[in-house]
Amino acid sequence: MDATMFRAWVAEATRLVVDNADHLTHLDAAIGDADHGINLSRGLRAAAATLDETAPATPGAVLATVGRALISKTGGASGPLYGTAFRAAAKTLGEDPDVSAVQLGAALAAALAGIRQLGAAEPGDKTMVDALEPAVHAYQAAVDGGSELAAATRAAADAAVQGLADTVPLQARKGRASYLGPRTIGHEDPGAASTVLILQALATVTGV
Ligand code: ADP
Ligand code: MG
Repeated sequence: MDATMFRAWVAEATRLVVDNADHLTHLDAAIGDADHGINLSRGLRAAAATLDETAPATPGAVLATVGRALISKTGGASGPLYGTAFRAAAKTLGEDPDVSAVQLGAALAAALAGIRQLGAAEPGDKTMVDALEPAVHAYQAAVDGGSELAAATRAAADAAVQGLADTVPLQARKGRASYLGPRTIGHEDPGAASTVLILQALATVTGV
């Protein structure tokens, strides 16, 4: 994966999040403050615009640019969390112009670690971690089993979809939703839903 492909990922993620912004906001209306789709659309649009202006030359520079834009433009809890995730992923990639499937796995794991370090969410707390964590494991298992990039990113996206579904019976224990206690049971977590979109975008651009 080169910088062009990483930019295509961000463009596709932006398209998916913008197209599904109302749905994400609707999910956040049920257990939060009805701004997640608006927040993330704003952040990703800003990221995509900055990428168009600056055209970073390496995958790491693309992800670092996205991380900065998300932190400064997204808002909400999700802005710093996603921003930190992209910056942590960027760090693992360094200056390499081309990223292997193994390196991408390390980047995804670093993104998860960054989110968990900042937000202190455990799996099962009904957050974006519940989509990303199974995705990272599925990706890793696929690569360890000899899968190509396309199959590994598809496995990650599919695991995230399952992780999102698994948030429905959970009670939120982190973020704004946690204030609603048991009333959060029976709903998908909005951040887990946006993580699914971002990983589906990755599977799309790396798919054969
Ligand atoms: P806010 O809650 O500030 O309005 P958003 O609506 O943009 O921010 O994002 C809400 C999402 O952020 C939640 O659905 C959840 O997935 C995620 N989130 C909130 N707090 C945490 C946390 N501490 N760790 C991981 N994810 C979190
Ligand atoms: Mg919100």
